[in-house]
Amino acid sequence: SGPGVAALVASRVVDVPDFPKPGILFKDLTPLFADGPVFRQVIDVIIAHHGGRGGFDVVVGVEARGFVIAAALAYASGVGVVPVRKAGKLPRVAHSATYDLEYGTATLEISEGAFTPGQRVLVVDDVLATGGTAEATLDLVARAGGVVCGFTVLMELAFLAGRDRLPGCDVHALMTV
Ligand code: AMP
Repeated sequence: SGPGVAALVASRVVDVPDFPKPGILFKDLTPLFADGPVFRQVIDVIIAHHGGRGGFDVVVGVEARGFVIAAALAYASGVGVVPVRKAGKLPRVAHSATYDLEYGTATLEISEGAFTPGQRVLVVDDVLATGGTAEATLDLVARAGGVVCGFTVLMELAFLAGRDRLPGCDVHALMTV
């Protein structure tokens, strides 16, 4: 992706201290989504990294900010989107994965039969922190019949070592802090 796009992402992130709780420095990327030319460039860089059009068969976005990125990637590359949702939102039978948070647990779900067996899946989210969300999502995609071919985030918090929980996956971050 190069320093160009990293600088672009850096220019469109707002650090919010103590959100959603004390001690968390929240990386708010909604200003990037709101900037049309920057958002478009970011989407194009992600697609190029993952082999361009034809490099993946379907995009998975993690609720909720991942949906924004996933839909744009899918439209620009002519493929579809599959949502990974928080517990209890999907109307039909779903695979479920529960993982640990700093305090308590979280559960993510994906619809059964979401993929044609063997479909190559690009997974996206806004921020990679501890990697718990990504690890659970990759597990769900595999259980629903997909083959993860890459995982992209706009920003990686490298000091939390989230990518260590995703061995064998092409983990791509447009910007790393
Ligand atoms: P984790 O499971 O710890 O890797 O956390 C990743 C998920 O939580 C992503 O869906 C992010 O949107 C969100 N997240 C975690 N930490 C932050 C942060 N410091 N700023 C913004 N979003 C975050």
